[in-house]
Amino acid sequence: MNVDYIIVGLGLSGMAFAEELTKQNKSFVVYDDRSQNSSLVAGGMYNPVILKRFTPVWNAEEQLKTALPYYKRLEEKLHNTYDHKIDIYRVFKSVEEQNNWFYACDKILLKDFMSSTIIRNKNKFVDAPFGYGRLEKTGRIDINSLIHDYRVLLLNKKVIREEKFFYHQIILKKKGVEYNDVKAKRIVFCEGYGIKQNPYFNYLPMKEAKGELITIHAPDLNVDYLIKAAVFVMPLGNDHYKVGATFNWKDKTSTPTTEGMLELEKKLNSFIKCKYEIVDHLAGIRPTIVDRRPLLGVHPEHDQLAVLNGLGTRGVMIAPLMAIKLYQYLERHVSLDNEVSISRFQ
Ligand SMILES: Cc1cc2nc3c(=O)[nH]c(=O)nc-3n(C[C@H](O)[C@H](O)[C@H](O)COP(=O)(O)OP(=O)(O)OC[C@H]3O[C@@H](n4cnc5c(N)ncnc54)[C@H](O)[C@@H]3O)c2cc1C
Repeated sequence: MNVDYIIVGLGLSGMAFAEELTKQNKSFVVYDDRSQNSSLVAGGMYNPVILKRFTPVWNAEEQLKTALPYYKRLEEKLHNTYDHKIDIYRVFKSVEEQNNWFYACDKILLKDFMSSTIIRNKNKFVDAPFGYGRLEKTGRIDINSLIHDYRVLLLNKKVIREEKFFYHQIILKKKGVEYNDVKAKRIVFCEGYGIKQNPYFNYLPMKEAKGELITIHAPDLNVDYLIKAAVFVMPLGNDHYKVGATFNWKDKTSTPTTEGMLELEKKLNSFIKCKYEIVDHLAGIRPTIVDRRPLLGVHPEHDQLAVLNGLGTRGVMIAPLMAIKLYQYLERHVSLDNEVSISRFQ
């Protein structure tokens, strides 16, 4: 089999790169062994405002300009809905926070998203005496359904192999690579936290963060917006809500834990006052880099090997733009910004 690219990994990054290759009429084969599941468990929110400090997310405007049409195209292609528009209601902890919110509302990058009216809480099952600040034009991508449907598309086209990719079986040629029966110009590694097993790129400084989430059934809660307080409560429909997420920098497994569940329950109970039942509990590892920026580029000695990783806590917004940037770098020699290029770690 001769292809332009081998892609290792079908999370948000691998899918975005596969889509870019499809757009550019390049051939590829994807390897994915489901060993990581950050994309599959993620809340899927996109939101250009950091809700702790009310400051803009890095490069948010450019990312959203690419990401929203990208998900729309995938909806058309796969005949399904993945982008669920939903406002975010940030619970204020104090009058000081209300003032900080008003101040942030005037900032150029934020005013299109932040409503300057304080929303009074009318829901007796939510404890929010200082009210909420509302963010608009935000939403949730149902990543799990999207990747599932995308996988089926690739299976039908016979361009995905659902198996582990073994690094020691790569044969580097003067131009290109061989891997078992596949000859390709390049391999693009999109393994998320799996990069730690990759002998070519595991020198890159990942500061991964495990996250756990629960899904609850809460028939009395009755909200159709995302509530952000000590944790987020995201409506999924039919009285189900996703609640998350924890941050753990020590545990490197994707296994849900009792500690994670207890932490989530404690935080949830601090502001949600109705009965609920926990119906699901998931965990994954966010591929975060020490400087919180993505990883793009080619191996310092083998330019047939490229990497697309480091999406951190915001893969939904970042992946589509980074896939385009990497493609342009590899195929059109457009240089990468130092901020995202792996050359910053050489
Ligand atoms: C709890 C939690 C909540 C989150 N919430 C949000 C959110 O609300 N919004 C947001 O934007 N982001 C969120 N994120 C972050 C987001 O999930 C990540 O940024 C993104 O999923 C990373 O995608 P990725 O493709 O780089 O990695 P992954 O999703 O981990 O995908 C890597 C893929 O590579 C495969 N792989 C690895 N090694 C091999 C190998 N050797 N052979 C074959 N296949 C291999 C794995 O099986 C996997 O499918 C959250 C993450 C977590 C954990």
